Amino acid sequence: MHGGREEFAALGVHAPPIDLSSTYPVPDLAAAIVSIDAMVAGAEPTGSPVYSRLHNPTVARVESAIAALEGAHATVAFASGMAAYTAALLVARGRGGHVVAVRPLYGSADHLLASGMLGLEVTFTSPDGVAEACRADTSLVLIETPANPTLQLVDIGDVVRQANGVPVMVDATFATPILLRPLEHGATLVLHSATKALAGHGDVLAGVVSTNAPEWLAALRQVRLLTGSVLHPMAAFLLHRGLPTLALRVERAQANAGRLATRLAGHSAVAAVHYPGRGATDPHHVLGRELHGPGSTLAFELASDDEGAPARFLAALDLITPAVSLGCTDTLIQHPASLTHRVVDDAVRQAHGITPRLLRLSVGIEHADDIWRDLERGLAAVVGSDDIDAAGFPPVSTATPSAHLAPA
Ligand SMILES: *Cc1c(COP(=O)(O)O)cnc(C)c1O
Repeated sequence: MHGGREEFAALGVHAPPIDLSSTYPVPDLAAAIVSIDAMVAGAEPTGSPVYSRLHNPTVARVESAIAALEGAHATVAFASGMAAYTAALLVARGRGGHVVAVRPLYGSADHLLASGMLGLEVTFTSPDGVAEACRADTSLVLIETPANPTLQLVDIGDVVRQANGVPVMVDATFATPILLRPLEHGATLVLHSATKALAGHGDVLAGVVSTNAPEWLAALRQVRLLTGSVLHPMAAFLLHRGLPTLALRVERAQANAGRLATRLAGHSAVAAVHYPGRGATDPHHVLGRELHGPGSTLAFELASDDEGAPARFLAALDLITPAVSLGCTDTLIQHPASLTHRVVDDAVRQAHGITPRLLRLSVGIEHADDIWRDLERGLAAVVGSDDIDAAGFPPVSTATPSAHLAPA
């Protein structure tokens, strides 16, 4: 709520000022040289920011707010989650040519690593295979928890122990810092696609990496400065604007998701529900220990073998938007095998349960009854049109919605 706002009283403002300057006056050349040297070394400017690719005050404010949320020394903001990933991997490449990546990962992250385009050698492994995969030249271990899209949980402390001194980076996008703070469990870096719940309103692309390690902080800033993967100040403003409501949004969406997970699991058209704490998602019992809540994203498998079932489900929806992304105020649903994980190798998809029957639901902060009615509509379309009444509602919707949603 209050992070990154410390200087507002002195500035005489209440909302974050948006500083759109691309260049900054440097009347004192000697002072500008000192400031440039500091920024090129990966530190904060000592005076004028000189040029907005080197530093921007609006971006720096949201970085300081997110660092406070993470309990981190500092945060570096990038143009997108993938720009943040790329910067971290470029720093890793300078420290050793090999990285270990625990699957499953976000589709584009998996593709970036598997493509070899950054010149890194990558060993993909399971959460229990990290120790065996690490080598003398391993510079980074990558994990994502809860993992996308299967909601598999990874024990950060256990991976840190296995990595045995090799820095671990956690993509904690699904959890948000409200539910998970990886640095407290020994991770060196925590990454978020801030496009998702941190910004929260579906109107900004952003990525952030937070750390307590000074050498990583300086190197990440250097990569950003030289590759130009900066966050635009307008995007930084929108991201900062999302933060005061983050905890409220996470709590409400998570409460909705828990109710919907129970309802979906009880529906005959659903074969399985993947949600932290359910089924086999949490082999190391990290829920309640590292992860302070299951979050607002879940995945479910349709019972129908029919290839066309996911498309029929999506076409029948009225309220929920069929779209990729997650952590939005409104509910989104997508078919990972067709969209987010399309770029992932077919065999890898199969091995990690990203089947053609899987749908991923990012639950929003609407009324849970409204979301459930729409899901019922989709499920009825999968079961068959006979089950939908003339008004387009499945028969079960004639009962009071709240009766369906009593917490179980
Ligand atoms: C969306 C996402 C990313 C990539 O972030 P962009 O902002 O889209 O570049 C990385 N990791 C996870 C878990 C994501 O959901």
